[in-house]
Amino acid sequence: MARIVILLGAPGAGKGTQAARLSKARSLPHVSTGDLLRDHKARGTPLGQQAKVVMDKGGLVSDALVLDMLAERVAAADCREGYVLDGFPRTDVQARALEQRLKPTDQVLVFELKVADESIVARAAGRLACRGCASTYNLNGAAPRKAGVCDACGGELYRRSDDEPAVVRERLRVYHEKTAPLVNFYRERGLLASLDGEQTPDAVFGRLDGLIPGKVKH
Ligand code: AMP
Repeated sequence: MARIVILLGAPGAGKGTQAARLSKARSLPHVSTGDLLRDHKARGTPLGQQAKVVMDKGGLVSDALVLDMLAERVAAADCREGYVLDGFPRTDVQARALEQRLKPTDQVLVFELKVADESIVARAAGRLACRGCASTYNLNGAAPRKAGVCDACGGELYRRSDDEPAVVRERLRVYHEKTAPLVNFYRERGLLASLDGEQTPDAVFGRLDGLIPGKVKH
């Protein structure tokens, strides 16, 4: 049996932070389609070049490209016992494609991180990411110990080009149109738990981890 954890929520709702913590606590790989795409972008691969144009405007990369990329990632040996999905699925087509590839024995757990749009805009304004290990920080409350430097790996921190206010508003619009309906998709299947994502990262993680069977010591 593999365990697949899906985190749903607007951009900046805390999916990346919670996925990273869960990945560590439960020894499951953190699979972020945004990180995979940014890696392609940084390496200048054909996929990265195609994705860049869409990502920089706050739109969604095509389902076909994302599905191929994801299929390749989750076919790797480290995903045999399961994985934590961050930023996928984002459309109905992606959710159905994922459902098709899962086995009946797989355990799927879906968590919605609920955060108001005003908080999302404020969070994006302070968000920084590491070029080295993709850790994220926020100048409003979760700042790095040394300005501009990643606590985890010493890498350089930067502001994601899609965290500019105009792009954040577009990403939110796209989220409400394309991704928010997946909350109902998973609710109808009895797989969804909704969490208050406005709480501190520690509090959100406590709730999230508590809802996952097989308690582990932290
Ligand atoms: P994220 O890091 O999850 O906020 O993703 C950053 C950007 O990558 C998004 O705004 C999209 O342009 C693109 N992206 C990430 N995941 C997906 C996905 N599942 N489907 C389509 N585009 C995606």
